[in-house]
Amino acid sequence: MSKPDTEKSLKPDTVLTHAGLDPRGFHGFVNPPVVHASTVLYPDIETMLTGGQTYSYGRRGTPTSKSLEAAIRELEGAAGVHLANSGLNAIALALLSCVSAGDHLLIADTAYGPTRHFADTVLPGFGVSVEYYDPALGSDIRSLFREETKAIFTESPGSLTFEMQDIPAIAKAAAEIGALVLVDNTWASPLYCQPLALGADLSIQAGTKYLVGHSDAMLGTIAANERAWPKLDALHGAIGTHVAPDDVYLGMRGLRTLSVRLERHAKNCLQVIDWLKDQPQIGNIRYPALESDPGHALWKRDFSGSSGLFSFDFIEGTSQEQQHAFLDALTLFGLGYSWGGFESLAIPVSLDGMRTVTPLDKNRMSVRLHIGLEDPEDLVNDIAVALKKAFGA
Ligand SMILES: *Cc1c(COP(=O)(O)O)cnc(C)c1O
Repeated sequence: MSKPDTEKSLKPDTVLTHAGLDPRGFHGFVNPPVVHASTVLYPDIETMLTGGQTYSYGRRGTPTSKSLEAAIRELEGAAGVHLANSGLNAIALALLSCVSAGDHLLIADTAYGPTRHFADTVLPGFGVSVEYYDPALGSDIRSLFREETKAIFTESPGSLTFEMQDIPAIAKAAAEIGALVLVDNTWASPLYCQPLALGADLSIQAGTKYLVGHSDAMLGTIAANERAWPKLDALHGAIGTHVAPDDVYLGMRGLRTLSVRLERHAKNCLQVIDWLKDQPQIGNIRYPALESDPGHALWKRDFSGSSGLFSFDFIEGTSQEQQHAFLDALTLFGLGYSWGGFESLAIPVSLDGMRTVTPLDKNRMSVRLHIGLEDPEDLVNDIAVALKKAFGA
């Protein structure tokens, strides 16, 4: 189980299978132990005072957390990785490590709603000024730079509406003024997109979604390059974020099957979309892996795969009653927040207060679907019945 002795860097599937394992360190057991710990004992006072052993205290890391961190570090090509107890906690920590009083922060207008909530309600109190930008800007983001611009928070594709962003162009512009670039990389996961290689400084993943993959734990990961790591590491230590070992273990277990699950999510998703696009009640479909999607070229250039999450509009004139009737009629799609588990989910897309520089038509009814690991034919039939119920035969 140790890594083959080769100069060549390993392919992603091999990394997923072997990363973070150390069987010889744990009596030959394949997986690292789930270490429940606060106190770590020292053999003598000298070791204690000189910090002369790997582990010092449960909050500062255990063989369980180090193992997942090492695996994510390898996948993201990062200098360092910290775990957080949710995706949102990872976003908050990453942002706090990049900006302080007097700084200006740019955030994509399409960022995840709770990211905006954190930026709008917490950061101003710390003296940070927050400005939203059109995700289509690319290198034109320069026009929004101020002397005090210290960080740019991107999310590609964006939450609910799936706009792609030109991360390399944004990173190049940011480098000219020494600003840090953060990417919420949850949709593609570090398997299909490595933001640090695209020029970003921090890559954040809501591990709750595809990493854990079974809707049974909350987790976040923050990967940083050499430039961003020292501040992130210091803040993480100072603030005391700690993830319970059983949840770290669920992340580690999910990691091993990430590739096979994502491949199937994407395949099922394409099959459902292929049927959906021809239905008379359906308007625009937002999924960057589709050739017709405006973000397709960027997706093709920067990503190596797609996932099971997309949204669509009903045709113009569809009422909220019809949207609700459709959602209520679904039986295989659960009505619930989050995504990335094995099961299919649906939510109405509501952008109230969530787009301040790129407003969308409020009268347009939309739905976000997560396509799970069910047989896609059953999913299509479920959607067909729900459309009939909502729109009539
Ligand atoms: C769910 C989600 C998060 C937050 O993750 P939690 O673990 O639910 O806190 C962040 N970003 C995106 C894009 C998400 O979908």
